Amino acid sequence: MSAVRVTVDQEICIGCPFCESVCVELFRVEGGLAFVLRDPVPPGLEECAREAADACPVGCIALHADDEPVEERLLASILDEPAP
Ligand code: SF4
Repeated sequence: MSAVRVTVDQEICIGCPFCESVCVELFRVEGGLAFVLRDPVPPGLEECAREAADACPVGCIALHADDEPVEERLLASILDEPAP
């Protein structure tokens, strides 16, 4: 099984900081931007990462498998966005 990778698009991040509230093990918000503390996601923290991605109001946290191409990852994160 491939590792789960996590990224934050800091161009979109608004520093709210829900990700850190939901999953302090993986995210830190400083200076109005979120930073990923541990990537790939350590075993046992995948659900925490998923909850943080779901909590992000602007959808700038992307989760993807280690071997997944970047284009598919971006498309998946766009398609995951709830309708306005
Ligand atoms: S929840 Fe999203 S918008 Fe808020 S600080 Fe984290 S990454 Fe940025």
